[in-house]
Amino acid sequence: GFKCGIVGLPNVGKSTLFNALTETAAAQAANYPFCTIEPNVGEVAVPDPRLDKLAAAAKSAQIIPTRLTFVDIAGLVRGASKGEGLGNQFLANIREVDAIAHVVRCFEDSDITHVEGKIAPLADIETIETELMLADLDSLEKRVDNLSKKAKGNDKEAKEQLDLVNRTLVLLREGKPARLVERKAEEERAFSMLGLLSSKPVLYVCNVEEGSAATGNAFSRAVEEQAAKEGAIAVVISAKIESEIATISREERADFLETLGLEEAGLDRLIRAGYQLLELITYFTVGPKETRAWTIHRGTKAPGAAGVIHTDFEKGFIRAETIAYDDYVALGGEAGARDAGKLRLEGKEYVVADGDVMHFRFNT
Ligand code: GDP
Repeated sequence: GFKCGIVGLPNVGKSTLFNALTETAAAQAANYPFCTIEPNVGEVAVPDPRLDKLAAAAKSAQIIPTRLTFVDIAGLVRGASKGEGLGNQFLANIREVDAIAHVVRCFEDSDITHVEGKIAPLADIETIETELMLADLDSLEKRVDNLSKKAKGNDKEAKEQLDLVNRTLVLLREGKPARLVERKAEEERAFSMLGLLSSKPVLYVCNVEEGSAATGNAFSRAVEEQAAKEGAIAVVISAKIESEIATISREERADFLETLGLEEAGLDRLIRAGYQLLELITYFTVGPKETRAWTIHRGTKAPGAAGVIHTDFEKGFIRAETIAYDDYVALGGEAGARDAGKLRLEGKEYVVADGDVMHFRFNT
């Protein structure tokens, strides 16, 4: 599955947010199979209103949403790249995630110490990103000698790698994250093999005080402006409110949100933003037994999508009976879509679209 790591300085609200996420997931466990993996790892259902519509059309007995994994990565402080705090362990945890949700303190509360002494979200962001970049600098510098030797021996691959490493080093030394390195499509694999922390896509989570949950505040606006400049995503959330929402029933939720002037829970927005950040899309399998959502990378072809369900589906792939979500719902289900000529037979080269309802045919 896809993993999103929650990082941030101490006392910014990471644990509060993570607990709200997993409590919400646990509260839904009656409806959805749910598992807690480890104390700091939780799986959450990706909310998707399309599931209810599809399940109604097909009279499915069960709904199974797709999931995203969140990992609470504590212990990042100034100096982590030099082993301060939980330093190395922290960095190893980040290496394993696909994307980073960076929680930034945007609330004032004199009872809760700020490690840097004042509320300054942009400075906090810089502190964390600097640690990631320093760790990357260190790991790349260690590679240069070895690669240079190989490159001198006319190792073509080593030459190309060295070139990529050097370009990345230039950027890091300018204080810019590795994800901004210009690279050709054919370098992408080698780049991801470098396992650089500052190459991961980042989503800023502005944790604001309860009164600003609907509107944001001056701190969160500064973060949003910065995110816009970088082409990054920022989400405004109140971790405190989310932890309250997590404990009330789904039915009471709507009223509670309305009194706060919120259209939906911040966590739902956060989960969807994470999905967007990872460039993920959803396709569905729909039948009387269940309506189920599956997650794939944008651009995945039909056999790869089938492989998410079972490797045999991919190996023996013949074709995929495919109905677009809008057609499926508008025509009242599979039979209606088929009669209207909206059921397509797609082959190996078909690039799956978000919302496709698919039925795979395969050899066993
Ligand atoms: P972490 O160190 O980043 O995991 O932060 P915690 O989630 O443990 O939060 C640190 C403290 O800040 C706790 O006492 C929380 O109750 C408090 N806190 C978290 N979010 C908010 C908030 O939005 N407003 C206020 N006033 N306190 C918060």
